[in-house]
Amino acid sequence: TSLTMQNSTDNSFVKKLQSSGRSLVVFYGSQTGTGEEFAGRLAKEGVRYRMKGMVADPEECDMEDLVNLKNIPNSLAVFCMATYGEGDPTDNAMEFYEWLQNGDADLTGLNYAVFGLGNKTYEHYNEVAIYIDKRLEELGATRVYELGLGDDDANIEDDFITWKDKFWPAVCEYFGIESTGEDISIRQYRLEEYEDAPDRVYTGEMARLHSLKNQRPPYDAKNPYLAKITVNRELFTSGDRNCMHIEFDIEDSKMRYDSGDHLAVYPINNSELVEKIGKLCEKNLDTIFSLINTDEESSKKHPFPCPCSYRTALTHYLDITQNPRTHVLKELAEYCSDPAEKEKLKLMASTSPEGKALYQKWIIEDNRNIVHILEDTPSCKPALDHLCELLPRLQPRYYSISSSPRLHPSTVHATAVVVEYKTPTGRINKGVATTWLREKIPKEDQAALTVPIFIRKSQFRLPTKPQTPVIMIGPGTGVAPFRGFIQERFSAKEDGKQVGQTVLYFGCRKKTEDYIYQEEFEKYENNGLLTLKLAFSRDQPQKVYVTHLLEKDADLIWNIFENNGHLYICGDAKSMAVDVRNVILRIIQEKGNMTEEQAQAYYKKMETQKRISMDVWS
Ligand code: FAD
Repeated sequence: TSLTMQNSTDNSFVKKLQSSGRSLVVFYGSQTGTGEEFAGRLAKEGVRYRMKGMVADPEECDMEDLVNLKNIPNSLAVFCMATYGEGDPTDNAMEFYEWLQNGDADLTGLNYAVFGLGNKTYEHYNEVAIYIDKRLEELGATRVYELGLGDDDANIEDDFITWKDKFWPAVCEYFGIESTGEDISIRQYRLEEYEDAPDRVYTGEMARLHSLKNQRPPYDAKNPYLAKITVNRELFTSGDRNCMHIEFDIEDSKMRYDSGDHLAVYPINNSELVEKIGKLCEKNLDTIFSLINTDEESSKKHPFPCPCSYRTALTHYLDITQNPRTHVLKELAEYCSDPAEKEKLKLMASTSPEGKALYQKWIIEDNRNIVHILEDTPSCKPALDHLCELLPRLQPRYYSISSSPRLHPSTVHATAVVVEYKTPTGRINKGVATTWLREKIPKEDQAALTVPIFIRKSQFRLPTKPQTPVIMIGPGTGVAPFRGFIQERFSAKEDGKQVGQTVLYFGCRKKTEDYIYQEEFEKYENNGLLTLKLAFSRDQPQKVYVTHLLEKDADLIWNIFENNGHLYICGDAKSMAVDVRNVILRIIQEKGNMTEEQAQAYYKKMETQKRISMDVWS
C-alpha cells in the first residue's frame, strides 16, 4: 500500500517541518476552498501557542511520512477534511483516504485532531472526517482534541470557531504549553507594487501566463478551455424567474464527456462591485501588485496568480460576494477609525454569544458581502492588498451536463437557473456565474462570446446495458443530466438496440411557466422511449410534488427494482433528495414486506451496486 507519489524525499513534509523549525502541520481535503482556508487559519494561529505551523495538501505529500512525525518533539497533525458527494473524500484527499482504509501503518506517537466540513442535508454527513478520526486512533495515533463537525447548511464558520476556541486550550494543556497570549495579526504575504508594469502580468489565467490566449490541450481546472457559446436561450415561458439553456462549443478542444459529467465554468465578478471596492478602499485598481508568501518553505508562493492588477484580482481571482468569515471581520476592525464600528466588527469576530448572534444577524441573515460591509461601516478603509489576502478564491461553478455526446459530440449543454434575490437590507444580490452568463447571448454579426470551462468526470452514469430499466427523479433543473440520459437511450434505440423502461419524474410550479424541455420530452414520449410523470405544484389547489407521484407508483418502482433497474435522483439537496429517499424507503419496506432496517439495507446495497445514484447540490 504505497502511495504512488513521486520522489518521497521531495514530498517529505516531516523534513520540511524540521528544516523550518515547525511542529504543526495542517492537512486539508478541500474541493471548494473552505477546508484549505480553515487549515490556513489554524496553521497561522499556531504561532500564538509556540507551534509554528504549515499547511499541506495531502496530494502533494508522502502521507506515509505520518509515521515519522513523532520524531519532531511536541508535534501535531490536524486534518480539515471535507466530505463530498456520497460520503466521498475530496479529489486531493482520495489517495490518502485509500491509504488509511487499506493500510496498516503504525501511527503510535502521532498526535492529531480532525475537523470535518460537511452538510447536514446530505445523507453521508461528514463521513470522511468521522472515519479519519476513528481510523487514526485505530492505527495507534493519539487524539489530542475531539472531532469537530462543521455543517455548511447552517453556519460552518460558527462551528469552526467554536471548535477552534476549545481546540487550542486542549492542545496547550496536552503539550504543557502556555499561550503567548499574543493576538496580533500576522500577514502571510508581503506586498510588492510595481511602478513600471513588469513583463509578466496575469490577466485572469488560472496558472500558465497567457494560457487563455495561447490555448494548448489538455484542458483541466488549471488550464480551462475558452469555449464559444453557440446557443443561449430562455427556457421558462413566463413568470419572473429565468432559466438558461446554454450550449458550449468544444469541437476544437479535444475534450470528451459522458452524460452525467459536470461542466465547470470560471465566472468573473460584476464590474460594478469591483469598482465599488476600489472606491471604498481608495485605491487605483490599475496598480500592478504581487502578494508574496513570507514563508519561503511554502509550496504556495502567491494566493493567486501574481503579479496582476487589483482589478484583475478582484474580477477573476477573489470571491467578493460570499458572506465574509469572522477572521476577515477581525482584520477589518483594525482599519476602522470610528471606535463604535471597530467594536462592532470585533464583536462579530468573537466567540461570545452576543458576537455570534450579531454575526448571524448582520452578516448571514442580512446577507452582507464585503462591499455591503464596507458601505455600512464607512470609517473602515482597509489596505486593499490586505483585503486581497483575506478574501477566499473565486470558485468555478458546476453544472450537470444536459446533453449526450452521442447526439452532441461537439457541444456541451447546461441548464441553469438565474440567481437573483433581494436581501433584508433592500439590496439585490445577483448570482456571479448565472448573471454573467445571462448576458452572453451570441449574435451573428458579433465576435464570439467565450467562457473558460473544463469538464469534471462524475460517478453519475447510466447502466452499461440499455435494456436495464431506469427511474430518473429530477424536479426543476434537477432534470438537466436526465436530458442527457434520455438522449443517450434515444440514440441507442436509433442504433437498433433494445432499450428498457425509461421513466422520468419531473416537477415544477406550472405547466405553462417553468416546464423546461417540454417539447423534447413529449417527442420522446410519443416515440415510445420515455414514460413521463409530471407534478405541477401550483396547477391545482393542493400542492403536488414528485414525491406524491412516487407514492402512487409504488408498484411500478418496486417492479423496476426487482428487475435490476437503476434509480437516479438529481437536484436540490435540501429537501427534495431527503424526501425522495424517504418515500423510496417506504416503498421498499411495503412492497418488499420488510422491516425498516431491512429496507435500509436493501437501499444501501443498491447504492453500493451503483443502482441508486444521486447528483444533488445545494
Ligand atoms: P452565486 O453567486 O454562487 O450565489 C448563489 C448563492 O446565493 C447560494 O449558494 C446562496 O448562498 C445564495 N442565495 C441564492 N438564492 C438565495 C436567496 N433566495 N436568498 C438568500 N440567499 C440566496 N445549478 C443549475 O442551475 N443547474 C445545474 O445543472 C446545476 N448543477 C450542479 C451540479 C453540481 C455538482 C453542483 C455542485 C452545483 C450545480 N448547480 C447547478 C449549482 C451551480 O453550480 C451554482 O451554484 C448556481 O448556478 C449559482 O451560481 P451563481 O454563481 O450564479 O450564484
